[in-house]
Amino acid sequence: ARKKLQKLKKTASVTKDGTAITLLANIELPEDCEAAMEAGAHGVGLFRSEFLFMGRAGSIPSEDEQFEQYRKAAEMMKGRVVTIRTLDLGADKPLDQADHTALNPALGLRAIRYCLAEPQLFLSQLRAILRASVYGKVRILIPMLAHAFEIDQALAMIEQAKGQLREAGLPYDATVEVGAMIEIPAAALSLPMFVKRMDFLSIGTNDLIQYTLAIDRVDYEVAHLYNPLHPAVLQLIAMTIAAGHKAGIDVAVCGEMAGDVKLTRLLLGMGLREFSMHPAQLLAVKQEILNSDLGLIMPQTRKILRAVEPNAIADAVQALQAL
Ligand code: PEP
Ligand code: MG
Repeated sequence: ARKKLQKLKKTASVTKDGTAITLLANIELPEDCEAAMEAGAHGVGLFRSEFLFMGRAGSIPSEDEQFEQYRKAAEMMKGRVVTIRTLDLGADKPLDQADHTALNPALGLRAIRYCLAEPQLFLSQLRAILRASVYGKVRILIPMLAHAFEIDQALAMIEQAKGQLREAGLPYDATVEVGAMIEIPAAALSLPMFVKRMDFLSIGTNDLIQYTLAIDRVDYEVAHLYNPLHPAVLQLIAMTIAAGHKAGIDVAVCGEMAGDVKLTRLLLGMGLREFSMHPAQLLAVKQEILNSDLGLIMPQTRKILRAVEPNAIADAVQALQAL
């Protein structure tokens, strides 16, 4: 089966009825770009940059060290898009043991909140990313945004980092796009605030499910309640895709749902045209796309989004497989 999938590497990612679908890879370190290229990814949809900071006993990579890593990823992807997510430290990804003292790490000072509280750290990462942008097609993705002022402050700091680079005479791509992770229900429920400020959106279903259902994503005692098909979760995803497209900006899903072939048709039916996943899943998802007919899937998906009973939803999602 692997061999058969391997043959799809160079096959265009298009539905049966001719709609092109973008398939991106999630990576943790630049070396993972090799697997992404091997799987025929159109680019990197999520570079979890915090992995450069983890497992270093609390020491932090310098701007130059980060620049080398981001540049490596940009070069390895040979002009394909590389979406670098700014630091998502805290909660399930602590910088060091000291971070475990947060009362409720998932709701605490993590990700963009942490970056805005540590401007020097954030600026050095932004400068490193911007400097790497001349070596490929780099985009910046901001995690865990909920408030308009966070978006505005993050954008202001990107401008500040650009100004510092100009002063230092260091080049960067002035057209670098900036996007938001939609992974807090409040963000999915205030999309106009996001689409008017952002160049693209990426739905982080892992956290979106956690925060919508109030289920700690790393607590096995409540793992049985972590349901991607809960109608509330599906509504938030569908709303985000629709609002992004209405505003004319790209929307991806970069959470685990994007790499689950059992959910590929559901996401296609919701209008999703960009999937970002672990490279190991990419060809299986492509195979599902090649066998999918949007003309058949979309009307069924509209019904699923109107359904209220979880069992009916699960059955209908399974039935999409048979179309
Ligand atoms: C997500 O929350 O869905 C996501 C893609 O980011 P992470 O899993 O790194 O929190
Ligand atoms: Mg997340």
